[in-house]
Amino acid sequence: MRATSKRRIWKSVGQNWGYLVLALVAYGWFIADRTNPVLLLVGSALVIVFALFFAETPCMAINKEKRDGEVDYCGNNGRGLLGACHLKRHKWENLKALSSRQRGVQALRHTVSRFCGQAAAFSAAAGIGSLLVATLTFVFVATRQPPPVP
Ligand SMILES: [Zn+2]
Repeated sequence: MRATSKRRIWKSVGQNWGYLVLALVAYGWFIADRTNPVLLLVGSALVIVFALFFAETPCMAINKEKRDGEVDYCGNNGRGLLGACHLKRHKWENLKALSSRQRGVQALRHTVSRFCGQAAAFSAAAGIGSLLVATLTFVFVATRQPPPVP
């Protein structure tokens, strides 16, 4: 394997590791031992962090607002649903977008208009759902009385 292609593989792993974790968590839920939710808890938390701060998503910052209410978004790819592209100014714009509900909905619609944004939004939702269920399972397992010894 040539060094350049090797580097490319590592780069893509670095950008997409959260999806691998998500696959592992799904594997854990459906196939592996469900009575040990700690790994699922950790995995779900990692998936959420990945989706919010690491996944490749379209930058939600606004270039300019047109007169008819249409919005022109920054075309760069950002890091995570909460992150923005490499431009520092856009990081603030992204956070501002989330503070207004209308803007947030618009921004979300923009995010899921591209496949990488859909994948990130899906992982965030799946991670949050999985985290909730894992927490409940964990509480249930932790509080359950041990079975009586015969
Ligand atoms: Zn941007």
